[in-house]
Amino acid sequence: MEKAIRAFIWGGPSLKWALNHVSWLKVCLPKEEGGLGLKRIGDWSKAALGARFWEVAVGSKSFWADWVSKRLWIRPQVQYLIFSGEGIAIGADPWIHGHNLLELITPLSSPTADLTNLSVAELIRQEKWHKPGWWDPNWDTVWSQITELECGGPGVDTLIWPHSISGALSTTSAWEFFRNAGAKVKWAKWIWQKYQPIKFSACAWLALQGKTPTLEQLQSKGLVRGTSCCLCQSGSESVDHLFLNCSFSAYLWAAVLRKMGAKRPRHPQLPSFLEWLDKNFPVGVPKAIMQVVFVTVIWSIWKERCQRRFYSKETHKSAVLRLISLYVQIAFQGKELREVWGSEIKKKGMMEGLNKGFKGPSRGAATRE
Ligand SMILES: [Zn+2]
Repeated sequence: MEKAIRAFIWGGPSLKWALNHVSWLKVCLPKEEGGLGLKRIGDWSKAALGARFWEVAVGSKSFWADWVSKRLWIRPQVQYLIFSGEGIAIGADPWIHGHNLLELITPLSSPTADLTNLSVAELIRQEKWHKPGWWDPNWDTVWSQITELECGGPGVDTLIWPHSISGALSTTSAWEFFRNAGAKVKWAKWIWQKYQPIKFSACAWLALQGKTPTLEQLQSKGLVRGTSCCLCQSGSESVDHLFLNCSFSAYLWAAVLRKMGAKRPRHPQLPSFLEWLDKNFPVGVPKAIMQVVFVTVIWSIWKERCQRRFYSKETHKSAVLRLISLYVQIAFQGKELREVWGSEIKKKGMMEGLNKGFKGPSRGAATRE
């Protein structure tokens, strides 16, 4: 199943290659941690099974003792809030650091009486731990573990999952507990926007990790010979060249930034360029718009590169700029653009400026560079 999902995500002819170069663990991180937000099927079913079991186990004394008990992964993690102890089965519920009493004492010396039907209340007197008459001194190491736990007070004995705020185990909280976790990345909000197609975001996602299948990448794997950039014919096609430093791309960046009142700084690498955008925008421009523009420019460059490389079809950079304008306007669909842009536009006449700017140079003014 995971194979099928991978094939679906990486279905594009060139992006497919990238699959083997971004680890599946990374792909399965949440978007804000730099992944694609997929959940590993194994992890998710494990979490769902834990949650299903939880529903049954809460309020059931006998359940732990039955099929569950020793194998289910959540067992060592659960805790009990012990008040009177009447609601907890002494020899079935895993109330002592994930174990029941029988499991801990039997290896030391077998109990002479049947403890299975007793509750933890047998060990509590006047809201404190109290050794009963049948307690064997051989079990005293276990007793010291018991006295580390709190007991007594008004309340109902409760099974809790300590890894969620509510104390209940849900599929999500269980999954959060054992999934592979990564550090939060700042750029996530730049590329995952509800306003644009996922393929645009996925393309920017690969580029920011330096994993786009550029000619330099392919050559390093021995898959192609020659790395000459087909957009400028003078540079070597690396991720940073293609998306940032190529004269074709530099033209697009300079044009979109100029129309938003900013000048493009010299940043030779994509991540530091994005960091600059993050710190310095807006100059009166809502960030949501700049975020969509960023991803759209990246996608447009990649698309043009692939058109030229695979289909020998060339679109002039001024026409690509007009397409970017169109994509951005479609992404915001009028109403939403106004919502994001707000009254600022009307006040400063910036909407007009934006639309005008995104039309790109007129046909007569367009020159081939
Ligand atoms: Zn180039």
